[in-house]
Amino acid sequence: MRDPESILHEVFGFAGFRPGQEEIVRAVLRGEDVLAVMPTGGGKSLCYQLPALARGGLTVVVSPLIALMRDQVAALRAYGVEAGALNSANEPEENERISDALNDGSLRLLYVSPERLAGPGTQARLAKCGVGLLAIDEAHCVSEWGHDFRPEYAALGDARTAIEANQVMALTATADAATRDDVAAKLFSRPPKIFVQGFDRPNLRLAMSPKQNATKQILDLAGRHRGESGIVYCSSRKQTETIAEALRGAGVRALPYHAGLDAAERSENQDAFVREDAVVMAATVAFGMGVDKPDVRFVAHAALPKTIEAYYQEIGRAGRDGLPADTLTLYGWGDIKLRQSQIDESGASEDKKRLERQKLNALLALAEAPECRRQTLLAYFGDTLEEPCGHCDLCESETGSFDGTIEAQKILSAIYRTGQRFGAAHIADVLTGKDTDAARRWNHDAIPTFGAGSDRPKTQWMGLIRQVYAAGLAEMDIGEYGGLRLTAKGAAVLRGERIVRLREERLRAKPARQRTASAASPELSSRDGELFEALRGLRAELAREANVPAYVVFADRTLIEMAAERPSSLAAMGRIHGVGGKKLERYGAAFLEVIDAAG
Ligand code: ADP
Ligand code: ZN
Repeated sequence: MRDPESILHEVFGFAGFRPGQEEIVRAVLRGEDVLAVMPTGGGKSLCYQLPALARGGLTVVVSPLIALMRDQVAALRAYGVEAGALNSANEPEENERISDALNDGSLRLLYVSPERLAGPGTQARLAKCGVGLLAIDEAHCVSEWGHDFRPEYAALGDARTAIEANQVMALTATADAATRDDVAAKLFSRPPKIFVQGFDRPNLRLAMSPKQNATKQILDLAGRHRGESGIVYCSSRKQTETIAEALRGAGVRALPYHAGLDAAERSENQDAFVREDAVVMAATVAFGMGVDKPDVRFVAHAALPKTIEAYYQEIGRAGRDGLPADTLTLYGWGDIKLRQSQIDESGASEDKKRLERQKLNALLALAEAPECRRQTLLAYFGDTLEEPCGHCDLCESETGSFDGTIEAQKILSAIYRTGQRFGAAHIADVLTGKDTDAARRWNHDAIPTFGAGSDRPKTQWMGLIRQVYAAGLAEMDIGEYGGLRLTAKGAAVLRGERIVRLREERLRAKPARQRTASAASPELSSRDGELFEALRGLRAELAREANVPAYVVFADRTLIEMAAERPSSLAAMGRIHGVGGKKLERYGAAFLEVIDAAG
């Protein structure tokens, strides 16, 4: 058996394991069944690819999405690994190649869809070849508890028996315990060894911001990521079109993606995003599952995501390569009210509605968190981060949290004294003492709180009211006006029995970082930045020739290292991150030439 660590260096050109990978690989090599929970971008694929190469034999990988299989196979072949995918879209030559490799035992990894694997023909064939390891990706799809149940996963337990797989491994990024137990019960014939890797993604910068002008805020973000790939999640088809158009107006190659486009255009746009270097996708949430692009440099939400789980999954599509990536989530009262009414009108059972309201409130509490956003996020998943992260928007903000008991009391008092039926905008008007028709009609200009907050502008009060709401001190009426009323906790604050921490809102978000040639490579000088661009140009050309995504040729990180290190021989080139033996042989000389020409 080959040593997995030397395969990591020689085939993949990686310097070391990512957290969790080594333990998992060793457990698989010891012959144990394994359930691995690892965040998106954590490097799950390597956990079955390395054992497949170390041990030889055939590893069958179940993956729900054809596009994803295709890209994984292309990436493996670029590393010189014999891999294939069985699917209906294959050309006959491709099927022949796979069939030959199966017969002569040279095929290391075979990707199949769950439907394919359920077929008796496939099962008989695989049973005959002898399957060393059955690896099931996106394993949470087997569980009805999860958010992404797929009936075709239900038959995998039987398929495992039919193909007589010696060993089973299941991988997922979904953490909750109910789903995990369900996966273990349905996919394994003996209790697996379970590995859970923490949920922190330190390379993602987290930021959430009140929505002022969504299009402009998104343009600012994209402007800091010129020449890079990004995703902007939108709340409607129309918004995807508007934002894509605004981005194009600013000179960014941006494409829309939503269920209203015809299938051909949708897959064309997705392909362009995956294959090209600097495409921004303005998409509804339908986009992303199965998009395995490692070099997405930013993910933005032009509207509030549905839940913290959805938020985490969506921002998780940024920075899978481990390099810095930016996220920005915009939210406003409109989003909150919309979600409330969607839940109320959903026709679901009361229990389900209660659960959904709790999830929405947890998300708002994250949006209005007074301190480190990453700590708040991880706490939700039951992970702890001992110290504030230092690089989320709240850690970077100059205005920390403060004792906001007085402010909260003013807000709660205004809500109470106006009869607990008005929305945030009117409450803010009352606090600032604005002479409005409504104030006069309802005599609100006569209550003691009228003008009690004239020291702050209305926009600040709106933000503080949101924080009071997110902290559970007030709740919202179901009616269309979004009237606010006190909760028991809010009443206690008003009576002076509790203190409240609030934070000053920064109305102008400062740029995350000063960007140089690439956000992923802030350390490159402008001279190296130029070389980086030249290397990217060559990469794009080679990728187009081979009809594979650019990152299959080399990852960004590899090009950044090349630009900074400027290797002058093949041997030196082979020491760069991501340059394995096969890639060195195939591409080394061409990249050396570009480096040499740069002087
Ligand atoms: P996941 O399936 O967990 O979302 P992937 O398996 O797609 O993550 O890996 C994400 C990216 O990280 C890929 O581009 C992969 O090549 C890279 N990667 C995985 N393991 C390592 C490692 N040990 N060192 C460097 N890069 C790695
Ligand atoms: Zn932080």
